[in-house]
Amino acid sequence: MSKTEFKAESKRLLEMMINSIYTQKEIFLRELISNASDAIDKIYYRALTDENLTFDKDSYYIKVVADKENRLLTISDTGIGMTKEDLENNLGTIAKSGSFAFKKENELKDGHDIIGQFGVGFYSAFMVADVVTVISKALGSEEAYKWESEGAEGYTIVPCEKETVGTEIIMKIKENTEDESYDEFLEEYRLKGIVKKYSDFIRYPIKMDVTGR
Ligand code: ADP
Ligand code: MG
Repeated sequence: MSKTEFKAESKRLLEMMINSIYTQKEIFLRELISNASDAIDKIYYRALTDENLTFDKDSYYIKVVADKENRLLTISDTGIGMTKEDLENNLGTIAKSGSFAFKKENELKDGHDIIGQFGVGFYSAFMVADVVTVISKALGSEEAYKWESEGAEGYTIVPCEKETVGTEIIMKIKENTEDESYDEFLEEYRLKGIVKKYSDFIRYPIKMDVTGR
């Protein structure tokens, strides 16, 4: 299976991200939850105009699952999902997405914290993960696809199985180093704290499940 290289600017930004200009690694969770929420919004708005689609509030939620044994953190949503083309176009180019865009609404809340004001987007997952896997099935599509990347080298996309429409972002959390701790991103109290801090205003339920010790 051949790897597709990221576009040049994306690669440079991604390298910067991985070599972390960010001290606040925790914001990756805010970014992924906000993407999940955007994806559910898209189904919601689609249902308003598409009479074949009903939006049953209880079926739409975001889930954060930590598996400590395997160092996996998964953020899943029941949102609109991505086709193969979406995965290529949306996750293959950083500059194209709203990544690094100034987020005005955070200005007051995080007034003291410059970094917190930027929407750094999907790629912030690489601040805490060695491998990021995205499994997605788009609304109206029969097929599901798996996008996977270990960072700046590029990504692969292959067909896979997924029963329900939506997206799963699976992060293989980095091992602790002498100066950096990553274990905390598998701890329930820590994850809950980050969700409370940044995602309190999200309109959909955020469920959490932590296994292992
Ligand atoms: P932004 O959210 O500002 O557009 P991101 O880098 O966070 O930038 O995400 C890039 C794009 O990838 C999004 O615009 C969206 O199209 C797609 N995407 C990311 N996460 C999801 C998701 N959970 N479900 C559906 N699409 C997603
Ligand atoms: Mg985003």
